[in-house]
Amino acid sequence: MRNGILIMLAVALVGCATKQQPKLEDECLYAAEKTEFQFWSSIAEEMEVILYDENQVPMETIALKKGANDFWRAQVKGDLKGKYYTVRSFQNGEWSEEAPGIFAKAVSVNGYKAAIVDMQATNPEGWDQDVRPAMPDMTDIVVYETHLRDFTMSPYTSFETRGKFLALTEVGTVVSGEGWQLSTGIDHLKELGITHLQILPMFDYGSIDETTLDKNRYNWGYDPVNYNVPEGGYSTHPADPACRIREAKQMIQALHHAGIRVIMDVVYNHTYDVNGCSLGRVVPGYFYRTNADGTYANGSGCGNETASERAMMRQFMIESVCYWAREYHIDGFRFDLMGIHDQETMRQIRAALDEIDPTILTYGEGWAAMSPAYPYEMLAMKQWTYQMPRVGAFSDDIRNALIGSPFDNERGFASGKTGCKEAVMNGLIGCPEWSGEPMQHVSYITCHDNYCLRDRIAVSAKGESEETQLRMNKLAQTAVLVSQGMTFLYGGEELYRTKQGVDNSFQSADSINIIPWQNKREYYDLCEYYRQMIQIRRQHKGFRLGTAALVKEHVVFDDSDNEHLIIYRIKDLKEIENAKQIIVLLNGGKEAAEVAIDEANYIIVAQDSQANAEGLGTCKGGTISVAPYSATILIDN
Ligand code: CA
Repeated sequence: MRNGILIMLAVALVGCATKQQPKLEDECLYAAEKTEFQFWSSIAEEMEVILYDENQVPMETIALKKGANDFWRAQVKGDLKGKYYTVRSFQNGEWSEEAPGIFAKAVSVNGYKAAIVDMQATNPEGWDQDVRPAMPDMTDIVVYETHLRDFTMSPYTSFETRGKFLALTEVGTVVSGEGWQLSTGIDHLKELGITHLQILPMFDYGSIDETTLDKNRYNWGYDPVNYNVPEGGYSTHPADPACRIREAKQMIQALHHAGIRVIMDVVYNHTYDVNGCSLGRVVPGYFYRTNADGTYANGSGCGNETASERAMMRQFMIESVCYWAREYHIDGFRFDLMGIHDQETMRQIRAALDEIDPTILTYGEGWAAMSPAYPYEMLAMKQWTYQMPRVGAFSDDIRNALIGSPFDNERGFASGKTGCKEAVMNGLIGCPEWSGEPMQHVSYITCHDNYCLRDRIAVSAKGESEETQLRMNKLAQTAVLVSQGMTFLYGGEELYRTKQGVDNSFQSADSINIIPWQNKREYYDLCEYYRQMIQIRRQHKGFRLGTAALVKEHVVFDDSDNEHLIIYRIKDLKEIENAKQIIVLLNGGKEAAEVAIDEANYIIVAQDSQANAEGLGTCKGGTISVAPYSATILIDN
């Protein structure tokens, strides 16, 4: 009893403290009559905010007063809209360099100064009515990853909006020739049937000079500068701080209108550099992990790594994702090098997003580039995914098993290698030993990193005909799309994109990175296969049972001596969907494989490199021949 009261008291106190903790996101609260500033620093002896006029000429320096919880505050009367500010701090006998606050929400060109904008005025028309597209069942998810330029630099996008947020508001764009036309852009995505668009970094990053956008410059953008501001290079007027905010919202609104949810690629694990960015300047040393000798730890391989386990870095990350989810209506977050963050932070991020909308997705790379300076068992590494409920991790297991590891040029199951069948089977059920639940297993074979699928197969299965390579391509992607995990496709694979053998195209020319819409006709068969496989997945709940318990109950793999053959059966489905049973036969060998199937009335939805959700034909079972490098999928109704 006494303990009970103590616990209740403790809970009440913690609850109270949480409530009183000021928010980093309230660093600049604008109103027409006054603007309030607040910045956090536990080590500053003095802090100042420096105001700049519309032309970025210094106007006034204002001393901040230290208040509760190490937040430093000031209030400025009058209408500051259109003005800019920076902050600086004094510690260890010197003033820091000026920087926008760590939670700047609008910035000048290239993000050097924070801008004071009326956020309400950045909302496009109809923004209040913008809602997340319906997501009746979380297992429906099919993610399509792209970079804004890859997707929109083609001649099929209006010249003025190429490579911009606004390009993704255009509908009705087509690639055409004499007597034919095929959709591109958003229409293509709708047709393909994907549910989520994952966009490579769209927050303000440092590698592109926003003042020289006329030069053909490309970068993936994994070099964060201002985390809570859209990238200026994607706006039509980077020097107008409100413009990028409005246009990013317009893009999200248009995608929502098309029924597509939007996932942001977030890169909290490191910053572009330490000394040049707000996190490094405003509170020197606090936000980064260091080695024993005082140097910056480098788990990111980019020169630094952040310290999510520290209270204010954790709070920063939580507030940041919640800010994007609320202010920009973002529907999901893909965490770059998530293995650098600690598990507790990821759990708290999940809990905070659940309060906004539990359908907001969270997943990431359960690894680091190099060794982070934090105990391994505390980190959000793939191995510990099951300890972070509803946070997913990319499965390099199923990827490597299907097409080979990026660290060598060998083949995988889908391109004829033996010895990987068990790993593919384990991937099909979502690697339960680390994922916990199948939806935490991101099934994929390619993403922006490493070779795209065409190049990967070309390198590893050198000498095979294009026809054979296309069969391998379809087979590998089929395994992803029939797997129990959350499916993820790299944009442009359906159009047989090639990056000309470039396996790290982070700053390659558009010509390497662009999605080849013009391929849509020549490789229509491939694109149609992807589309049909997505339909097949979405029509059959058996492929996405949703929980490890259901997977255990309904999935069986029949024995086969053939090292190239997987017999994947999803049985007793009567209570779950229309089909009684689904049989998937994956043949990764160069010879046809014979399989004996129980007699029943089957609809064939995939066979010999063709797929059709409505059915390609029927069969009665008995001995089935599965063509080389192909999948046969039978639905027993
Ligand atoms: Ca930028």
